[in-house]
Amino acid sequence: MSKNPLPLIGCTTYRKTIPQASSPLDIIGLMPSYINAVVAAGGVPILIPLGLSDAQLMAIFARIDGLLLPGGGDVDPTEYAGNPHDTMFGIDRDRDRVELLMARTAVAEQKPLLAICRGIQVLNVALGGSLYEDLRTHLPNALTHDNFENYPASHIAHEVTIHSGTKLAQQIGQTHTHVNSLHHQGINRLADNLVAAATAPDGLIEAVELPNHPYALGVQWHPEHLVQNDPTMLSLFKGLVTAATNPS
Ligand code: MN
Repeated sequence: MSKNPLPLIGCTTYRKTIPQASSPLDIIGLMPSYINAVVAAGGVPILIPLGLSDAQLMAIFARIDGLLLPGGGDVDPTEYAGNPHDTMFGIDRDRDRVELLMARTAVAEQKPLLAICRGIQVLNVALGGSLYEDLRTHLPNALTHDNFENYPASHIAHEVTIHSGTKLAQQIGQTHTHVNSLHHQGINRLADNLVAAATAPDGLIEAVELPNHPYALGVQWHPEHLVQNDPTMLSLFKGLVTAATNPS
């Protein structure tokens, strides 16, 4: 196949309501940290709106060269036969539908994919895995993974061990790295086709990949907030863009 010198990276989006004095304003969008990281890696971000039909989403899918699944709220637990929990937040059934469809199609059609935070959870659920609904409840001896408050998003929260022989190890070139941690859920049962590529010191899976795919990587941390100080974090986006530039 021919090269894509400026590959289009489809990025799924959030639905937010901004309070205003007059009336609340609904928006669909994405934090610029993701957009800036894709651009810094040489890709062209294309935001994929919510609210489209499956057929319309597939029309977008056919035209993008790679896919980015960003962070966000929780996946509806019915998608993985899980249970409701009172810490769950931001559940958006339309976003679940959009991202599960895009993730499954990217896996099936060998389209490069980078999945971040909620994204790694979507990828695991899309392929049949399950989540801990709340780490503090269901994995009580775990580290503090939910550093939402009192720290900037780039705060380094814990180490991860990168499993040797994985594509992630090749991409980062290190056996250990230090990451931020802004998640209250995590991977419980790993989907059959996924391989764990990194783990936290408490054993929680922090990165996954698909062995028989050009580039399908999920990370539980937020590399888009670490690219300024750690070039290996930008390399995760460069891996996506390189694979999207050179379709197999
Ligand atoms: Mn973590």
